[in-house]
Amino acid sequence: NRQWILRQRPKGLVQPTDLELVESPVPDLKDSEVLVRTVYLSLDPTNRTWMNDAEGYLPAVKLGEVMRGLTLGVVEDSKSERFKKGDIVTPMSGGWALYAVVPEDGLRPVHRAPGLPLTANLSVLGMTGLTAYFGVTDVCRPEPGQTMVISAAAGAVGSIAGQIAKQKGARVIGIAGGPEKCRWLTEELGFDGAVDYKNEDVGEALDRLAPDGIDINFENVGGDIMNAVWNRMNVHGRMAVCGLISAYNATRPPPSPNFARIITHRLNIQGFLVLDYAPRAREMVAEMGPWLAEGKIQWKVHVDEGLESALESLNRLFTGDHDGKLLVKVSEE
Ligand code: NDP
Repeated sequence: NRQWILRQRPKGLVQPTDLELVESPVPDLKDSEVLVRTVYLSLDPTNRTWMNDAEGYLPAVKLGEVMRGLTLGVVEDSKSERFKKGDIVTPMSGGWALYAVVPEDGLRPVHRAPGLPLTANLSVLGMTGLTAYFGVTDVCRPEPGQTMVISAAAGAVGSIAGQIAKQKGARVIGIAGGPEKCRWLTEELGFDGAVDYKNEDVGEALDRLAPDGIDINFENVGGDIMNAVWNRMNVHGRMAVCGLISAYNATRPPPSPNFARIITHRLNIQGFLVLDYAPRAREMVAEMGPWLAEGKIQWKVHVDEGLESALESLNRLFTGDHDGKLLVKVSEE
């Protein structure tokens, strides 16, 4: 087997000495266990938060343990009556490894979407799509004509969230890094406006693009970008706090926004976790399926080759050097 082991808690971006790629034998299967060969490893911003020894929604990965990660793989061997060799599955504890031995209760079968590549199951129809779909439809709940701002808008979740909000009739403005990502949002995905936070003042751009203020914020970044949005939220505005990626590598928490605005503008702020929506995946597929078939939702996948690339690849999420859902291809389908 090949596995990435967490050796020390990173400070800032992950460094080559923080994790080690080791070779080890694959253990024998016990009753009801399944051997899964990883085909794709999903790299997600939250992976970085699991490396910190801090209170989170899941326990921190311990030093000396295999790095946790969402994967999609093929059953190679099985002592379970529910899974057989060749089945495609997503283990809940696959991790950054070529092989994982998983109890049958920790496996979900993967149903290939007709006409779509397998990577769709880890992107637009996987956790990413689920986050975007329920973040918009259950938390943001945009009404036609409302102005919605999304940060990390050209990323995996943000780009899909924006297109869903367009389907619901909102006026959608995205914040993203660089002219090419902003062009993609407005010219290809149908966003009503885009702010290039790397090259323009976010507050000034929002004043220009949302002169009547902001009704809804799908927040992925936090920090100065969130504050610029926060200071322009309208009365009874709604914020879905999906992620705060600008803080994931930070050693101290960023300054808080002005909380008085929650009172003066009666803001409704809600954090959410995709895990809570996993049982409702069918609802997402029911509504998104036809949009995908009609070409109303587009998405991109960025695939890096080989398990050995995982550590460097993770840092792409924090530099923005990727286009769409970031995956590592660990072995052939
Ligand atoms: P993305 O594909 O959006 O990649 C992350 C992007 O964030 C980068 O491409 C970069 O875009 C942007 N970014 C990184 N650092 C900064 C920074 N300091 N300032 C501004 N932008 C930055 O990743 P995901 O779609 O997987 O995740 C997006 C967000 O959603 C994250 O915050 C993540 O934690 C959250 N999330 C939350 C879930 C939940 O259940 N609540 C589930 C899944 C994701 P650019 O090039 O534009 O700078």
